[in-house]
Amino acid sequence: MADRKTRGEEGRKMKAYMGFEKDYFNEIAVLIFAHSVKEAKVLGWNNCDFCDNFINYRVTQIKNQSWIFKEMIKDTPHVIDNPKSCEECMMWGVSEIGADGLCEGCRELNEPTQTTD
Ligand SMILES: [Zn+2]
Repeated sequence: MADRKTRGEEGRKMKAYMGFEKDYFNEIAVLIFAHSVKEAKVLGWNNCDFCDNFINYRVTQIKNQSWIFKEMIKDTPHVIDNPKSCEECMMWGVSEIGADGLCEGCRELNEPTQTTD
């Protein structure tokens, strides 16, 4: 394996993961940027204030959600233990949180039915 890394390359290869407690999926979770699930697991565990309380700590890759990379604050692997979440359902990682503070699902629910314009 080549070990030729620049900060830029490192950033591009990064994947997004969600580290969470099995029984509280999405309620208590951290966002992890890392290169592999193995790295994410270790990183999430070591860099999360509340993960010590996790009994069934799991890590899963967040796929097909390219907007999540907007949350990245640096090019090297890191953990965000308070990712931007929906003001209504408190979830994150499902869809992008808009300027209104809502995820797509909650925005749709809040929108009055568009019958006329
Ligand atoms: Zn929501």
